[in-house]
Amino acid sequence: MNIDLPENFTMYDERKRKKLAWIEDGILKIKIEASFRKTMYELTYELKGRNNCFYCKKDFNDDKMTLDHMIPQERGGPTITNNLVPSCHECNSKKSNMTTEQFLKYKELTQEGKKEYYKNFKRYVNYMKENELLELPPNWLSKKKVTEIIVRFDFSQEYKKSKYRKIEKFYKEYGHFPKPILVDKYGFLLDGFISLMYAKDHNIRKIPVMVLENVEVIQQKI
Ligand SMILES: [Zn+2]
Repeated sequence: MNIDLPENFTMYDERKRKKLAWIEDGILKIKIEASFRKTMYELTYELKGRNNCFYCKKDFNDDKMTLDHMIPQERGGPTITNNLVPSCHECNSKKSNMTTEQFLKYKELTQEGKKEYYKNFKRYVNYMKENELLELPPNWLSKKKVTEIIVRFDFSQEYKKSKYRKIEKFYKEYGHFPKPILVDKYGFLLDGFISLMYAKDHNIRKIPVMVLENVEVIQQKI
């Protein structure tokens, strides 16, 4: 799949000494030392603005805006431009773990209707988890299995044990991973290190993968 990209974009390091990410011929080039998440945030602001809340349409200052995952992270939503919208704190916290579509419906309901909707919604989320259903558009996930893609990444990097335990808990309870791992067009890992680590430790071969065809990690330090 391709992520949404603006026509022009350049992200520098803090001292503006070197480029960390840029767009060239429609491909996002991202240096190995750049944070993928931060790059996605900056790209989203570039595409969708910094000041206007997608949900209540009010204008805010920079610091009042967050980025909301349209499909929430705990329901498999990746941190990519296609899945992010600027949102104020209030709307983001009210939306909680609903999708954008569900939240827009919910907003229109009466107080009584909201209670009922929320009860059904919680049941629905559990059903999806228990049945190994990821709620992503079908064309986002790669048809290739993770074993068919050479996933390149560094196993020796540091990670938080608490994050590992969270994945472990989810996997033990539901028998699958909560979200796909993300790789660039050449199989370089962009997100999902902990899931991959857990899969390696337990010899699990079934991991959902998203291949971002218009993203390329630049490995050499220029
Ligand atoms: Zn808002």
